[in-house]
Amino acid sequence: MKSDNPRILVVDDEVFNLQFLTDLLIADHHISTAKDGLKALQLAASLLPDLVILDVVMPGMDGYEVIRALKADKTTRHIPVIFLTSLDNAQDEEKGLSLGALDYISKPFHPAIVMARVNNILELVQHRKLLEKIALIDGLTGIPNRRAYDDRLRDEWQRACRSGEPFSLAFVDVDFFKSYNDTYGHAAGDLALRKVAQTLSRMLKRSSDFVARYGGEEFAFIFPSISFQNAQTFATQACREIQGLALEHKASTAENVITISVGGATTVPARNHHLGAFTKHVDMMLYQAKEARNRAVWSFFQEK
Ligand SMILES: [Mg+2]
Repeated sequence: MKSDNPRILVVDDEVFNLQFLTDLLIADHHISTAKDGLKALQLAASLLPDLVILDVVMPGMDGYEVIRALKADKTTRHIPVIFLTSLDNAQDEEKGLSLGALDYISKPFHPAIVMARVNNILELVQHRKLLEKIALIDGLTGIPNRRAYDDRLRDEWQRACRSGEPFSLAFVDVDFFKSYNDTYGHAAGDLALRKVAQTLSRMLKRSSDFVARYGGEEFAFIFPSISFQNAQTFATQACREIQGLALEHKASTAENVITISVGGATTVPARNHHLGAFTKHVDMMLYQAKEARNRAVWSFFQEK
């Protein structure tokens, strides 16, 4: 069995049904089973399966209560659920669907129908995951986009406010990019942006470090819990790396190759500090850097 096979949690109080569904699906799926609702909730939270197949009628906690609990918990809310039912009743189907079930499988089982419904739902899930991923990637450069940046910035800022660890942010601007496009054409401009983005992205060492295309020829770095010194060194190094690509830019008055300007700052945020005040300060640092070009300007920021 492949390790990337989808994980399915099957929940039914009857061992016969658990065994039947396991036998049917085991070839292409990781199967876990639970005989009651409480066990199902534990396993759903720890395994985070791609799909839960859930019996409606069970002693103790029934399927409706289980799906309510799954949907009430932020970590399990997105797990799709298919109900198993012998209840041949439109009202029960309606109730299940209104609680967030995606489909029904009725007992007694028809193997081909079970397989088809399970595969349909899993395909839908794959598709949704792919769309979510695409929505956060910049189409031109292949690195995270502005939306991903906004999400990450908010999350990391809140984390830093709680932890009291230093937080660094930098804005990057490609120098004289308009004149590059005017001189070499937009296709060459796109290619240059892609190279700059990939170079900046390759420089990241820790999984918590982050770079995104902010828009146009602007990029942004987020460095959680890194020292002022290390952040500043990184920014200077980024300027050298881009210059080192040696992408000819005759129209640049800074160098005869493509360069970047980086403005950044480190702060130690507290709960009453404002992200907007900090990003405004980082913006000012970028303006200063752009006055010199091919420079990184870094400062410490303390909200008053
Ligand atoms: Mg049952």
